[in-house]
Amino acid sequence: MSPRRHIALVAHDNKKVELLQWAAFNRGTLARHQLYATGTTGTMLAYELGLPVTRFLSGPVGGDQQIGAKIAEGVIDVLVFFWDPLEPQPHDPDVRALLRLAAVWNIGVACNVTSADLMISSPLLSGFYQRVRPDFGDREWQPAEAG
Ligand code: PGA
Repeated sequence: MSPRRHIALVAHDNKKVELLQWAAFNRGTLARHQLYATGTTGTMLAYELGLPVTRFLSGPVGGDQQIGAKIAEGVIDVLVFFWDPLEPQPHDPDVRALLRLAAVWNIGVACNVTSADLMISSPLLSGFYQRVRPDFGDREWQPAEAG
């Protein structure tokens, strides 16, 4: 049985149509995985694809950070993030933080249609591929549970 990957999808407003078209074209593949998205992107994707999407807050009010937290927790394998290179975003620090965490935790990241096409069509996505999870040693200290 091929692995079910956890794929997060985010698109800035000027990039939403591109992401929706890309997702509709790849619906069959996406249906085999578990999808997550920021609020507005997720609402549009769920409607367009008719697939379940775990939705977080809208990006500018914390959704990017919520997805970043899921990456840090090891939940997300792949991030498809069509960010807008031509327009400043009010939540630019969050955008940078999300991309940074994707790099820190060595997950797959695609920021445009070409890279998303290459990643979604990779046999590694549905085959045996175990990403190397970095080991941050003492930095991964977890507080003991209370009680
Ligand atoms: P949205 O957020 O899906 O709620 O529009 C995306 C973003 O701007 O990060």
